[in-house]
Amino acid sequence: MNIDIQVAAQRQTKPALSEVQFGSHVSDHMFVAEYDAGRGWHSPRVMPYGEFRLDPRALVLHYGQSVFEGLKAYRQADGGIALFRPGCNAARLNTSCARMAMPALPEALFIDGLQRLVALEAAWVPDTSGAALYARPVMFANEPVLGVRRSSRYVFCIMLCPVPPYFQIGDAPFKLVAREDCARTAQGGCGDAKTSANYGQTIVELERARREGYDNLLWLDAAGHRLIEEAGITNVFIRYQDKVVTPPLSGRILPGITRDSVIRLLRHQGVPVLEQETTIDGLVADIDDGRVREIFLTGTATIVAPVGEIGFRDRRHTLAPVAPDDSMAAALYRTLTAIQYGRATDEFGWMQRVPL
Ligand SMILES: *Cc1c(COP(=O)(O)O)cnc(C)c1O
Repeated sequence: MNIDIQVAAQRQTKPALSEVQFGSHVSDHMFVAEYDAGRGWHSPRVMPYGEFRLDPRALVLHYGQSVFEGLKAYRQADGGIALFRPGCNAARLNTSCARMAMPALPEALFIDGLQRLVALEAAWVPDTSGAALYARPVMFANEPVLGVRRSSRYVFCIMLCPVPPYFQIGDAPFKLVAREDCARTAQGGCGDAKTSANYGQTIVELERARREGYDNLLWLDAAGHRLIEEAGITNVFIRYQDKVVTPPLSGRILPGITRDSVIRLLRHQGVPVLEQETTIDGLVADIDDGRVREIFLTGTATIVAPVGEIGFRDRRHTLAPVAPDDSMAAALYRTLTAIQYGRATDEFGWMQRVPL
């Protein structure tokens, strides 16, 4: 599909990264495509960033037909720009769409739109290591009608936000709390889809965790409140002496692209990674006995970050600090970022260059 390029008459002055919070600043242009049942996807364009007009009946506002993605464009060691595994995001968007009765977006349109947008906004990709240009694709239903049914109209949009590093080696480890009176999702729900509905309902719990001095939740399964699932909006890994364990993709877990990359990197290095269930009781007992060497989180924003403490039933279980040279989380962070910033050979073919 031919992408129309409409260049903004004026460009903003770029903010200093020190003034930027996650998503507080956006580049000058966005990519937009529209869908109408019968016509399919049409009018793909890169255009000046701006507001949408929305009928108050737009279905997304009432019943939450909305899915999103998140990935980053990285400044390469040679000055170029590359995206990390964008095909995985295009494919995952469509899995989320299928779950939410939304139309698939051709993967080529996702990739072409993203490439054209990032190429036009190349100057927005930060030069500092750890920082990146975060791309947020989103699709939502905008048919003006109030029946609970699939919308016949959708908008797909990609916006770009310069982001400072969310986590760097040496920052304080995360503190998580596991609770038996709440859950992120249940079996048969949509926990494996990146849909807006999964996030709004967690904010009260996030605020409660923060009031108690934690950074985020260690989500347990909704049925029995025993199984470890995710940490906030990241995937979670537990390192024992001789193996690494992460929850299996049960349908309740978001299949993180960083999760998949970390599993591949570890297996490539000969480290056994088991996708198996872990109970909270077993985990805290293993932390107290010193059997758990590290716990770490993975996600596009965080990359890989260590956990230092788990709160459960009025007790805080603290992990013994690991020496920097012995930290698997720090080693994974270094390996992954070296690939992302083009400082290491991309053995897995993960990076996609943006033609400038
Ligand atoms: C996006 C997300 C992740 C991480 O996925 P990545 O592809 O690694 O960024 C993990 N859990 C939840 C709930 C998420 O929304």
